[in-house]
Amino acid sequence: MSDLGIASRANLEPIQDIAQRAGIPEEALELYGRYKAKIDTGLLHERTGTARGRVVLVSAMSPTPAGEGKSTVTVGLGDALSATGTRTMIALREPSLGPIFGMKGGATGGGYSQVLPMEDINMHFTGDFHAITSANNLLMALVDNHLHRGNELGIDPRRITFRRVLDVNDRALRQIVIGLGGPTEGMPREAGFDITVASEVMAVFCLATGIDDLRERLAAITVGYTFDRKPVTVADLNAQGAMTMLLKDALKPNLVQTMAGTPALIHGGPFANIAHGCNSVIATNTARALADVVVTEAGFGADLGAEKFMDIKARFAGFEPSAAVVVATVRALKMHGGVAKDALGAENVDAVRAGLCNLERHVTNIGKFGVTPVVAVNRFHTDTEAELDVVIQWCRERGVEAAVAEVWGRGAAGGAELAQKVLAAIQKPQEFSPLYELELSVEEKISTIVREIYGGAGVEYSAEARRALERIHANGWDAMPVCMAKTQYSFSDDASLLGAPEGFTLHVRDLIPKTGAGFIVALTGSVMTMPGLPKVPAAMRMDVDAQGRAVGLF
Ligand code: ADP
Repeated sequence: MSDLGIASRANLEPIQDIAQRAGIPEEALELYGRYKAKIDTGLLHERTGTARGRVVLVSAMSPTPAGEGKSTVTVGLGDALSATGTRTMIALREPSLGPIFGMKGGATGGGYSQVLPMEDINMHFTGDFHAITSANNLLMALVDNHLHRGNELGIDPRRITFRRVLDVNDRALRQIVIGLGGPTEGMPREAGFDITVASEVMAVFCLATGIDDLRERLAAITVGYTFDRKPVTVADLNAQGAMTMLLKDALKPNLVQTMAGTPALIHGGPFANIAHGCNSVIATNTARALADVVVTEAGFGADLGAEKFMDIKARFAGFEPSAAVVVATVRALKMHGGVAKDALGAENVDAVRAGLCNLERHVTNIGKFGVTPVVAVNRFHTDTEAELDVVIQWCRERGVEAAVAEVWGRGAAGGAELAQKVLAAIQKPQEFSPLYELELSVEEKISTIVREIYGGAGVEYSAEARRALERIHANGWDAMPVCMAKTQYSFSDDASLLGAPEGFTLHVRDLIPKTGAGFIVALTGSVMTMPGLPKVPAAMRMDVDAQGRAVGLF
């Protein structure tokens, strides 16, 4: 049965009941229909005081294009922890329409480990992405209006770095020319669109600790440079107030439930390959205020999602992760062990063994942050006992805790062993520390990540990236952490280098200071901030049935 089929058979509880069990007072709840609500965190914190719950991060080995089941394991682990009587809350990202209509699918878990109502969460939800898109594009309209109205600030139209966004995969919008048509139609210039999840407004939204911090961070965003190369900020255009107004309701975290009735906050959604890759700080902190254990996910492999979770989110938000689950699958291990994508279903114990080098590097990397890793082998029906045994045995020999998770097929019951391992891991003393100090130069920060996390030998900067480095230095922006934008398929910037490649050079194409979010994006290889659609997009199989229900949504 499809994920949507299973989800449509689930019995949902009214969201007020879920809120009550989570300790959220009625007056802090803003209902969006029967099964979704936003939480007014101002009213909540008066009741709950400071955040204290332990944070369990769910990350993964380098994935196949289908995804390895991080969201599924996050939900299943949350339900399994709830089943032990642990006060648990789940914090996830909101799905983007790009992958939904493209190739990868939604982000609400799968099988018997899903957050509901999945149809709503995957499309429109409570409108947060629309609000973020609107705030971003309002800013760009103000920038282009400023040029049209005489350009008092002296903005160089060729040096505007901020771009419009849409939540869609649309390669035709990457490079465009706007303002054509004569003097009344604006100032012609080259421009382009990114996908909403790559927007700095999204990053700011996810890192803000409250409405005042949101306004301050928005004000600090750099939109481009003047003719004499001085940065132009949102504050120079005085756009921060209107942008904050557009975002004020979106900033309240969204409460939903899993199929087993565990409360889940789903809020914000930057991608992990081209942005920082985890849900909002507000949602995580709200969950920490309400629950003893918070299970949260960072996107793609641990080289991207977990590294940025530790070096950007946890550092900024000031909490320490208590454990990190690394999701592995037999099919991804086989792919890293050299098996072609169309042959991953057939048993191949040797290939599983050969692919363990990829998992090994991710597990070692988690240890470098002082956090205990727990391997979760997400079981697919094609996996054989012999293949699963190889992984569990390998973990045992290395002293790494591991469990086979059958949460997709069995829900909470299939995650009981994993839950026990995670509960044991979070009891251990942790000595969390980010990988690098912020005082290092930008080049040193990047080379630390390349050496320690990716296993690479060196970094090569394009002429453009070199110029960007000089600009960053001249403006005194060196002390920000780095947000690597890299393919999720390989530790390197070459998607075809599988396993655990060594000795490679990482190519930095450009560096974009995100002065509002507070990090520098390093664009590597050919990674795109506006994805394209595949030859047969998932959209081709979707429709609405006679009862008005979605069909073909995974
Ligand atoms: P990720 O978060 O790593 O991208 P997801 O949890 O979104 O991955 O899962 C991707 C897809 O794979 C979903 O459609 C989900 O239903 C499916 N899936 C995940 N785990 C399993 C499993 N063990 N067996 C079958 N399908 C699975």
